[in-house]
Amino acid sequence: MTDYQKIIDTQLFLLDMDGTLYLGDEVFPTAVDFIHSIAETGRKYIYLTNNSSRAGVDYITRLRKLGFPCEAENVFTSGMATGEFLNQQYPGAKVYLAGTKAFYRELKSYGIDLVNDENGHTDAFDVDVVVQGFDTELVYEKLDKAVHFLRRGAKFIAANPDWVCPMAAGEVLPDCGSICALLTASTGVEPEYIGKPNRNMIDVVSKMTGIPNENICAVGDRLYTDIAVAKNAGSVSICVLSGESSEADIEASDVKPDYVLQDVGEIAKILRAAQK
Ligand SMILES: [Mg+2]
Repeated sequence: MTDYQKIIDTQLFLLDMDGTLYLGDEVFPTAVDFIHSIAETGRKYIYLTNNSSRAGVDYITRLRKLGFPCEAENVFTSGMATGEFLNQQYPGAKVYLAGTKAFYRELKSYGIDLVNDENGHTDAFDVDVVVQGFDTELVYEKLDKAVHFLRRGAKFIAANPDWVCPMAAGEVLPDCGSICALLTASTGVEPEYIGKPNRNMIDVVSKMTGIPNENICAVGDRLYTDIAVAKNAGSVSICVLSGESSEADIEASDVKPDYVLQDVGEIAKILRAAQK
């Protein structure tokens, strides 16, 4: 019998969404009940996404529409993590943001001192930090400004490392990592990434909630992001087989999850069994 102690010791679950709780608009049969089992057994959960183009509130709306319980405190995007990170590591810094209007408003809500307006205009000559997001509203002026500031020694922080964002029918959108590659090519400066698989994402949540990394468990279907972030941060990880990874993929990978389960319904069973 497998020893599920690390799952039982978990105080906070960090949940990947697509491939873990649903696929597109199709919610997995045990997924909503799994969320209830977390709350019912006195634990917390946060829906976690690397997407820095949308605001947290967009996810609340989507998750509720799909039938999931979700309050503001249950959603955390790489954009929000970037706001927390800036406040923790660069308090009071002057920041240039190259990102969507939604990301702009998110950083404002964290009290970040942004030198630009929501379209990326600025007259500033120097800043402390350039932040790059998954900018689906990218215009040349933002690249121009970011390059200017980076060449003058600004720190380079990027919300998420993804090269592309998967879309329906096998299409992709160029994501934050690809935009950063352009900026690095122009400046020689490499970004510090916040989103999965970088441990910053969990460290920030741990500081925010006061829950130690080892009592945080990441649940997801993707080894090189969902599972790797937990490994990098010293947290617990569960790979579910309901999405992208198969048992053969896990066998072949260097990134080994602590647990491999069929789907999130199995976690609900483990949590409830431990209650008895
Ligand atoms: Mg996924």
